[in-house]
Amino acid sequence: MNEVKKPRRSMLYYYGVIILVMVLFNFVLLPIVAQRQIQEVDYGTFMDMTEDGDIGKVEVQEEENQIVFTNKEEDTVYKTGMMPDPDLTQRLHDSGAEFSGEIMKAESPVQSFLLSWILPLIIFYALGQYLMKKFMQKAGGNNAMSFGMGKSNAKVYVKSSQGIRFADVAGEDEAKESLTEIVDYLHNPGKYQEIGASMPKGILLVGPPGTGKTMLAKAVAGEANVPFFSISGSEFVEMFVGMGASKVRDLFKQAKEKAPCIVFIDEIDAIGKKRDGQIGGNDEREQTLNQLLTEMDGFEGNNGVIILAATNRPESLDPALTRPGRFDRRVPVELPDLKGREEILRVHAKKIKVAEDVDFEKIARMASGASGAELANIINEAALRAVRDGRAFANQADLEESIEVVIAGYQKKNAILTDKEKWTVSYHEIGHALVAARQTHSAPVQKITIIPRTSGALGYTMQVEEGNHYLLTQKELEDKIATYTGGRAAEEIVFGSRSTGAFNDIEQATKLARAMITRYGMSEEFDMVAMETVNNQYLGGDTSMVCSAETQTEIDRHVVELVKKQHEKAATILLENREKLDELAHYLYEKETITGEEFMAILNQ
Ligand code: ADP
Repeated sequence: MNEVKKPRRSMLYYYGVIILVMVLFNFVLLPIVAQRQIQEVDYGTFMDMTEDGDIGKVEVQEEENQIVFTNKEEDTVYKTGMMPDPDLTQRLHDSGAEFSGEIMKAESPVQSFLLSWILPLIIFYALGQYLMKKFMQKAGGNNAMSFGMGKSNAKVYVKSSQGIRFADVAGEDEAKESLTEIVDYLHNPGKYQEIGASMPKGILLVGPPGTGKTMLAKAVAGEANVPFFSISGSEFVEMFVGMGASKVRDLFKQAKEKAPCIVFIDEIDAIGKKRDGQIGGNDEREQTLNQLLTEMDGFEGNNGVIILAATNRPESLDPALTRPGRFDRRVPVELPDLKGREEILRVHAKKIKVAEDVDFEKIARMASGASGAELANIINEAALRAVRDGRAFANQADLEESIEVVIAGYQKKNAILTDKEKWTVSYHEIGHALVAARQTHSAPVQKITIIPRTSGALGYTMQVEEGNHYLLTQKELEDKIATYTGGRAAEEIVFGSRSTGAFNDIEQATKLARAMITRYGMSEEFDMVAMETVNNQYLGGDTSMVCSAETQTEIDRHVVELVKKQHEKAATILLENREKLDELAHYLYEKETITGEEFMAILNQ
């Protein structure tokens, strides 16, 4: 990052000091110094010295009504007031004094002004500059320090967009298409101005974290070859009131100077939250937001400054921010689909050494639901694993293992399960896998393992969809719930007891069942009525209830019914396949990790 501009600090403080020192200099110091130089004596002393012939030089300054003279040695200057004294000249002449006009050659007004006012000013200005430089070096961008100077310290960075181009952002074709227009505009604004079209001033990139929003913004700057200003929304909101607004002003001032350019505001929700007018609201944030709105209104559409902003909470943004004329274009940057995941994996795999036979499509299928950032992480984990094992490049196994690391954490090599526990886990996992395999609408089993992971999972069954899956039918959802309950069902059938191992399954099953009823309209009773709304679709998808307490009770009853039914279904499937259940569980117990193919082979024998 190259810092373009150091914060400009107020000179007021320094000017104050300079003026104060100058006043002291002129009104206190100078007279003292002057006094030491010229002794004022009475006329009598002057007459005595004349009589004693103790006068060296003498000058009569009629305008100032004074006589300035020196002693014989000419090392002291005296002055005295003038008196009517007609033969003074003669007496001085007799005493041998030298008439001179140069003892106290009066300075010209210009000279004295220069000396007493301008010179100190220059000295102190130079001193001030020097001190300020030192001070700023010491403060080194410390916000609290610079605030002490009462200044805006907007730190605005321009990055060369690090050469990122659209080609580096894999997948996200729709987003790239929307942004290509911006690039074209920055290349050739005339084309748009001719027809009278103006570019949107602001473009909002919305999507879950790690999907490449920042990367896309950089790529726009990279493609258009324009400067890229980047600041995070949270940087505006600081400890001190009024800083945010002045930072916004600074940012826009710089951007306008550098136009055409891209201004990228990350996490815009930090300042752009809805102003709800609650008492005790965040004044600072609102001021910052207001300033942002004002600035956006203030510049014309065609001045070449394009503002890109990213957020993963678009629903929380103030409507004033998203209205036409401000951030009026919204570009969704969603989680990548199968093809997108494969492309992202390939882009990142270029940065490391990988074996030639790596099946990226399979890895992409296994990493369903992963974001771009997670995929980049998976590739890196694979490279790290290869290094750990002393290999020169990463292979398929490294990649598969690193997916599991990202999903479930590292293998816990020294976790010791009792034999009973190991059997329980084996049956539990086979329970899931068997129920999944015996249902028509479940994704195929990819892998089953009972090696404990650092996430706390004692084992897991990985199912991988064949291709992209955008819609889920009611039957598929029910089968999913049944699969979740399969683990516990197996424990109940085989051991006649329940363990805590199923807690995660219980959570997932309940969540799905609830969503089916409250959001997907998949129950007879509530039909297509929404009972729940999603609060933030990109961040975990928390929901809040929008129904009466009575209805909630009803919903709870239905959720229990739904899960119970699937649990029973799972138990029936397992009872029907009891022999296979035992056989597979023994096999897993021995092997600890088995592949989907091994599993299917035994099942289909
Ligand atoms: P966001 O701003 O959406 O949170 P970033 O743009 O910061 O996400 O992405 C974080 C990292 O994830 C990037 O540095 C990049 O390595 C990787 N990444 C995310 N999406 C993609 C993509 N579509 N193509 C390639 N890499 C990606």
